Amino acid sequence: MKYYSTNKNAPLATLHEAVVKGLAPDRGLYMPERIKPLPKEFYDRIDTMSFQEIAVAVADAFFGEDVAADDLRRIVTDTLSFDCPVAKVDDNIYALELFHGPTLAFKDVGARFMARLLQYFIRQEESGRVNVLVATSGDTGSAVANGFLGVEGIHVYVLYPKGKVSKIQECQFTTLGRNITAIEVDGVFDDCQALVKQAFLDADLNAHMRLTSANSINVARFLPQAFYYFNAYARMKALGKGDNMVMCVPSGNFGNITAGLFGHEMGLPIKRFIAANNANDIFYQYLRTGKYEPKASQQTLANAMDVGDPSNFARVYDLYGGSHTRVTAYIDGATYNDDAIRATMRECHDRTGYVLDPHGACGYQALRELLQPGETGVFCETAHPAKFKEKVDEILNTDIDIPDRLAEFMKGQKKSVEMSRQFEDFKAYLLKE
Ligand SMILES: *Cc1c(COP(=O)(O)O)cnc(C)c1O
Repeated sequence: MKYYSTNKNAPLATLHEAVVKGLAPDRGLYMPERIKPLPKEFYDRIDTMSFQEIAVAVADAFFGEDVAADDLRRIVTDTLSFDCPVAKVDDNIYALELFHGPTLAFKDVGARFMARLLQYFIRQEESGRVNVLVATSGDTGSAVANGFLGVEGIHVYVLYPKGKVSKIQECQFTTLGRNITAIEVDGVFDDCQALVKQAFLDADLNAHMRLTSANSINVARFLPQAFYYFNAYARMKALGKGDNMVMCVPSGNFGNITAGLFGHEMGLPIKRFIAANNANDIFYQYLRTGKYEPKASQQTLANAMDVGDPSNFARVYDLYGGSHTRVTAYIDGATYNDDAIRATMRECHDRTGYVLDPHGACGYQALRELLQPGETGVFCETAHPAKFKEKVDEILNTDIDIPDRLAEFMKGQKKSVEMSRQFEDFKAYLLKE
């Protein structure tokens, strides 16, 4: 299978090239040339299959031409060492719980899959260690660090702003050791991002070491997220609720929802999608006006969705041939400010007992408002509420439990390399590695 760039100004790439490069040379996002539908028999018996079995079939449609079957099966089952169940929250509203992985957020699936696929490809090259640089404001760093932990032949450098990530987040990438180095930058997130970008462009560094990114636009990170939409349908079908199913996705960079839209192109019978935004409502405005107008992002309670120029919009646009009519025919939207998020979390907790995290709250509320009679709604609960314990406890007046695997991280010894925000310092450090 070949991959083209959404900017249509770069040569076609193999999967191998697309995974190693991440972004196309014309700065577009890679898209698979074809999306293969899955056969009717698959959908007929999907409710009898396990999450892993379903994912192997979906992965085969995406990657089967380019990865040996046994290896692909191993990569998928290794990635999915945890479940993503649906939980009933309300009449006709279910949560697809995507927080049962090692760092308690949905990015675990994409990060773990990408680590393993990247390893598969670099093993074929025999060109020595690959170094992944990633800048994080919190969640991406933990998912990438844990996804790549112990993966031979790859070293990960996580750059994060000193004092600007929560303790819980920090311990998820500073206590791991092994092939993960945490770099604590005396600056803000944008400084971290600037250091990483400059490193990729620096000739001396690139001559010294092989650098790549684990950015969320990488096809190996975004496509595997389709797995859990198939699983959602399977589990709902088993409950007799597979018909007229509406999927609602709390969205920031739109990688997660785009993977679901790919699933639909493969025949997954989801009636329609809803993208739930926080106050960063660029996509919502696009649905209403047909104009895509990026803005500076604003900080909200659902901070993993604070994106003012969602990178995967280019993929959504491309998937529907740039037609606003086609996009709006299948995708609806909603937007919630922090007050609405707080009110939703309280209302849901008081009435149903279910604890929403601030991101999932946007998804839940959109279903409450937009679900039509006869439809069943499933929203992605994208992170465990304990990841935002301080905020959640304050809003709900609770003292929610911290899951064991999160508590485990907090026992570990923090180790980090202190770094200024000057590129020369970062470069000098890497040149000694
Ligand atoms: C990353 C993230 C999102 C947004 O997902 P996108 O794929 O960027 O749209 C939503 N919720 C949580 C908890 C996240 O970490």
